[in-house]
Amino acid sequence: MTTLEEPGTSVRTVTVEIDGRPATVPEGTTIYDAAKQVDVDIPVLCHNERYDPVGVCRMCVVDTGGRVFAAACVRPCEDGMTVKTDTEEIERNRAVLTELLIADQPPRAEDPKQTTTADNLLLDLADGFDVSRETTDLPCGSGRGHDSSNPVIDVDHDACILCDRCVRACDDIQGNDVIGRSGKGYATTIAFDLNDPMGASSCVTCGECVQACPTGALTNKAINNIPIQPREQLDAVDSVCPYCGVGCALTYYVDRERGAIAFAEGRDQPGSQSRLCVKGRYGWDYAASPQRLTMPLIRVDSAYPKGALSADVRGDMDNDRGRGGAGGNRSGGGRSEKRKGRDGRRKPGGLVDYDEVMPYFREATWEEALDLVARKLKEIHADGGPGAIAGFGSAKCSNEEAYLFQKLIRAGFGTNNVDHCTRLCHASSVAALFEGVGSGAVSTTYGDVANADVVIITGSNPTANHPVASSFFKQARRRGTKIVYVDPRASTVAEHADYHCQVKPGTDVAFYNGIMHEVIRLGLIDREFIAARVSNYDELARTVADYPPERAAQITGVDADTIREVAKLWGEASAGVIYWGMGISQHTTGTDNARCLIAMCSITGNVGKPGAGLHPLRGQNNVQGASDAGLIPMFYPDYQGVDSDATRERFEQAWGTKLDPKRGLTVTEIIGSALKPGGVRGMYMLGENPFLSDPNINKVRKALAALDFLVVQDIFFTETAEFADVILPASSYLEKDGSYTNTDRRVQLGRKVMDLPGQARVDWEVVQDIAQRVGLDWSYTSPSEVFDEMVALMPSYANLRHDNLGLSGKLYPNADPEHTDGTIVLFDERFNTDDGLAHLVPAQWLPAKELPDAEYPLVLNTGRLLEHWHTGSMTRRSFALDTISPIAEVYLHPKDAADRGLAHGERVRVRSRRGVIELQVRISHREQLGNVFIPFHFREAAANLLTIDEIDPFGKIPEFKFCAVQVEALGAARATNGSTTALGAHE
Ligand code: SF4
Ligand code: SF4
Repeated sequence: MTTLEEPGTSVRTVTVEIDGRPATVPEGTTIYDAAKQVDVDIPVLCHNERYDPVGVCRMCVVDTGGRVFAAACVRPCEDGMTVKTDTEEIERNRAVLTELLIADQPPRAEDPKQTTTADNLLLDLADGFDVSRETTDLPCGSGRGHDSSNPVIDVDHDACILCDRCVRACDDIQGNDVIGRSGKGYATTIAFDLNDPMGASSCVTCGECVQACPTGALTNKAINNIPIQPREQLDAVDSVCPYCGVGCALTYYVDRERGAIAFAEGRDQPGSQSRLCVKGRYGWDYAASPQRLTMPLIRVDSAYPKGALSADVRGDMDNDRGRGGAGGNRSGGGRSEKRKGRDGRRKPGGLVDYDEVMPYFREATWEEALDLVARKLKEIHADGGPGAIAGFGSAKCSNEEAYLFQKLIRAGFGTNNVDHCTRLCHASSVAALFEGVGSGAVSTTYGDVANADVVIITGSNPTANHPVASSFFKQARRRGTKIVYVDPRASTVAEHADYHCQVKPGTDVAFYNGIMHEVIRLGLIDREFIAARVSNYDELARTVADYPPERAAQITGVDADTIREVAKLWGEASAGVIYWGMGISQHTTGTDNARCLIAMCSITGNVGKPGAGLHPLRGQNNVQGASDAGLIPMFYPDYQGVDSDATRERFEQAWGTKLDPKRGLTVTEIIGSALKPGGVRGMYMLGENPFLSDPNINKVRKALAALDFLVVQDIFFTETAEFADVILPASSYLEKDGSYTNTDRRVQLGRKVMDLPGQARVDWEVVQDIAQRVGLDWSYTSPSEVFDEMVALMPSYANLRHDNLGLSGKLYPNADPEHTDGTIVLFDERFNTDDGLAHLVPAQWLPAKELPDAEYPLVLNTGRLLEHWHTGSMTRRSFALDTISPIAEVYLHPKDAADRGLAHGERVRVRSRRGVIELQVRISHREQLGNVFIPFHFREAAANLLTIDEIDPFGKIPEFKFCAVQVEALGAARATNGSTTALGAHE
C-alpha cells in the first residue's frame, strides 16, 4: 500500500526500475502500485485497491531477481530494485495458472463476460492466454455446488477461485463479517456464517461481495424477470440512491430496449466510496411497479362525504391482509385470492388493493385536474383566509421542488403553513442546534469518524437506517476508535461497540447529565475552549451537579461504574464526535436530549476540529435539503426567520409579493387545526403520507376526512390519497433531474434514469402549473434555473451550481467548488450564533408523557427496518426488499413473550389507549424487558395507530419513541374487546 504523506512531514522515497521505467515512490509502496504509476499493467485476480492486499492468487507475480517470483500486490519496493513484469517465464506461469483456474469454472454462459459485477477478470485473462475450459486437457469441474437461497444474489461455488475478495469486501468494507471459508483442500468453499445457505445466514444483502467478485461466482439475479444484458449493452447513468440521508453515489445500468434498470452499482464519491446497502443496490424496481399512478384522478360525487376507502385504512381487523400466508412464514406462501389485483398479479402484503379504492375515482385530464385544484384552493383561500391553506412538501423530492413548493404556499397563498417530515424526525435536534450553535446542519461528516478516537452513537440504529455510514463506524473501530453505543435496544451496532449503555427509554437527559457530572468532577473539561467559545457553562455545571452517577444509574438503568468509565473515556478523548438519531429527537424531551449532546461536545472542546463534532444522522435522502430550501413553517430558505422584518422584506423583494410575518403551523399543528372550526380547510400534499407517518392516526384519519379539499401528488395511491379530492400522478426519483443534499451537507445531482409512466409528470412542473393557475408569474424552464434562484437567496449554498457539482457533489459551505470538495468541519473559529459562542442550555430530566401501568404495562418504541423505508410505499413494491422482509412484527423480549404465553411467529394484538393492531410476534434478544419495538412501515399493522401525539414544546416533534401498550394473544384480545372488527377506530 502506498504510504500517505502527512501534511508538513517529509516521506522517505525509494527508486525502482519496472520494465525499464524508473519510478520514485514513497517507502512502503508495493510494486503493483509503483507499476501503475509508470503505466505498467500487472494482471491481478485477488487484488483490488479497495481491499487490503493478500497476495493469494499469484497472478501478479513479477521477477525481482530473487530466488522466487514475488507477488507485486504485497511486495514493497526496495531502493534500487529492478522489476520485470512480463518475461516469457512469467507469462508462462500466468497462463498455466489461468488454465488451472479456468478448468474448474462452469461452462461458459452465452454471454461469457457478464457477471453483473466487475468485468469477469478470469475470462478476460483466459481469452488473453488463449486457454479455455472447452480446450484444456485438464480435468474439468469442481462440483462444489450452487446456492440460490438469496432472492437477489446467486452463488456458484464452481466459479469461485477463493481469492477472498468477497471476504474482505464483507468484513473490511461493510463490516458485516458474514463470509469465511469452509472445508479443506479441493473441497474448500466460501461459507456464509457456519456454512449456512446465504439466504438463511446473517447476510444483509448489501451486495458488496457481488461488486467485488472477479469471476462470476457471486452474481446479481435478474429482478422482476428483466434479464441482465452485458454491461457494454447497457446505458450507465450516474446518480444517487433515493433512500436514506447517507446519499450513496451509484450508477444505474439501464436496458433501454426493455425500458428497465438491469442492476445498480456503487460508484466512488468521498462519502460513500462505492458502497451501497440492500436498498440502494436492489431496491430500485418500485418505480416500475404496475401500481404506479399514471393518470390524474378526481373523486366521484358518490364518494362523498369523504372517509377511508380500504379496510386497512378504515382499520378493519377482519381482513386477511398482512398475515404473511399460512402460518405467517416469511416466504409469504398461502396468501389468499384476495391478494390478486385487477391485473391478476399477486399483491404483496400491505399494498393498496386497486379494486377497493379505484371505484371512488375517475380519470381526468391534467387540465381538468389542475384547474380544479387551483379553483378549490383559491376558493378556500378567499373564504377562510391564508390560514385555511396548508402544504406538506416532501423530503424525497429535490431541493428545487422543495424550494418551489414552499414558495408556492408562501407567495401564492400568503401563509407559512408549510412543513414536511423533518417535523417527525429531527425537528428537536434542529431546534437545539440553532439555539446552541446557530446552525441546524451537522458540524462534521460521518466519514470524519476516521479521525475520532472516541465516538458516541446514540438513539440510532445505523446498521439498519444508515447502513453505509455504519460501515465507516465499524471500519473506524477496527482501526482503534472506541465506540460508545447508547440506546435502549441492543441493535447490531451494540455488537461493534466497546460500551453498550442500554438506557431505559426516555432517560437520555439523565444519562448525559450523569456523564457531564463525572467529566466535570474528574477535571476533564476543556477550560480553554469553554473560556473562549462557550456561554452559560456555570449554569450547566450547577444543573449536572445534581446527577451523580448513582442517581443517573437509578434513572437510566445503566450502572454507575459504566457511567464513570464512559465519562472518563469521553473526557480524555482528544477528538470525539456524537452521531445521533431519532431515539434522541422523537421524544417530548427531544430538544433537551439534543441540548445535552451539544453540551457534551462543548465542555470537552469536541467541536470545530477533525474527528470531533455533532452529527444528527438525517433520515430521508433529502430531508437536509428540503429543510435548507425552506420547507419549514418558521424559516425561509437557509433558515432565515419569517418573523424578521429585514429578512421578510428581502424575500418579498425577490419574490415580488407580500409575505405573512407570522410563523406557520407545523405538521402536527396542521393536522390538529383541520379538526377545529376556522382551521385549515384546504391542503396540498406533495409526496407525504401522514396517514402512516404521523402519530395517533385515528386523529389523522378524522383530520384528513374533515378537510374541504385535499390534493395529493404522489407516485402511488397512498393511504393518505384515500382522502383526496384530486390525485396527481407524480415522478419517481428515477424519472427526473434535480439536486439532493445528504446528511453530510453534500449537494449531489440525481439524474433521470427512466421515462415517466403514462401521463405522470415531473413534480416541479406540476407545482409550477398550479402556481400559474393561482396567479403567480412563474416560467422556470429547468431545475438548474430554480437552483440558481434559490442559491442566490441562500448564503450557505453560495457558489454552487448544477454545473459545478460534478459526479461526487460538493459539501456546503464551499468557497471554491471548482477546486474543492467543500468544508468538512464547521465552527473551527466561531459558532454561527450572534456572539459566536456555543450557548449551553442545561436540561432537567423529565419522564415520558405516558408511563406504563397495569393496563398498558409495556413501553412501545417505533422505528425502521433495514429493508424498509418510511411508510413502505417504495420498499414494499421492491421485489428484493419485500421478499426479504414481508411481514409486520412486534419485537418482544423472551420473558415478556413467555409471561404472556406467546410463541415466536404467533399472531397477537397490540393495543394502546388510542388503538389496536394485529401482527406477528418476533422474540428478540435486542429488546429490554418491558419494551417492545414495532416498525412503522406496514399499513396492515400501522404502528402509529398506537402512538401518542404529545409533542416536544420547542421542536414540536411527536413522542414516537415512547407510549404504553399491552400485547395479547388473539384469544385474550377478543375476550377483552368482545369484537374483531373496526378496532383500529377505538380511541
Ligand atoms: S451481500 Fe453483503 S453481507 Fe451478504 S455476504 Fe455479501 S458482502 Fe456480506
Ligand atoms: S446507505 Fe442509504 S443512501 Fe446508501 S445505499 Fe443504503 S439506503 Fe441508499
